[in-house]
Amino acid sequence: MTKSFLKITPKLARQIRLVIADVDGTLLCDGDTVSEAVAQSIRSLERCGIMVGFDSGRPLTRLEPLANALKTSGPVIAENGCVAKLTKESGLYDLGYSRQPALKILNQFKAEFKSAIREAPDFKDRLIDVGFFADNIPMEELTQQLQGVQLLDSGYMLHMIQEGVSKGKSLKRILGLIGDGTIQPDEVMVFGDSATDVSLFTEFENSVLIVNPRLTKPQTDCLRSIPKFKSALAFGEGFVEVADFLVKQRLTT
Ligand SMILES: [Mg+2]
Repeated sequence: MTKSFLKITPKLARQIRLVIADVDGTLLCDGDTVSEAVAQSIRSLERCGIMVGFDSGRPLTRLEPLANALKTSGPVIAENGCVAKLTKESGLYDLGYSRQPALKILNQFKAEFKSAIREAPDFKDRLIDVGFFADNIPMEELTQQLQGVQLLDSGYMLHMIQEGVSKGKSLKRILGLIGDGTIQPDEVMVFGDSATDVSLFTEFENSVLIVNPRLTKPQTDCLRSIPKFKSALAFGEGFVEVADFLVKQRLTT
């Protein structure tokens, strides 16, 4: 059962060493910049000794400017777990994933559904994940044709990536290389808003759902009861209330 974020205890708050946040729907609703309130909450997490990192469906080109502006010290995981950097300054960490299986399926879709299939604007910035739109085509029609590839709906666009790759698994793979290398899974708190974050919620026990009122009912139904905590407010305001409460609880004796 998902509980209110107000149930985060001082003990749990002091245990957290790394906060990992999805971006779209979690830190912001639209656009590329986060609000000053979100920036301030991220700064106070870092100030009290919690590293902050991102795990998003965005390509690196749209995550690195954010990490640089916010001066975060944690990892930058892009393209739904396909691409990772241990810190914003480090080089790409080779997770060994390929774009070929998803590109092959995209070409099949283009042949069958013609102009209803549109590449996402940041298609060329993506190294592995294939982002696209499928106008008015039911998901079931698309899912029938996937071989070795998974189809994800972030609520912003559709994504195709190699089977077995996820935001949560990639974070687990690099966790032992972050900071001093001793961060344990139960010392991580993950934040997300949609189906593409389910792997974060299942791989990491301390998980927070940020309310996204834009999701459709089926999109919210698949999240029910999986995260441990949830925000009351939506989008960035939800992140701020939970992050600030986490910092407050750390200081509570
Ligand atoms: Mg999201």
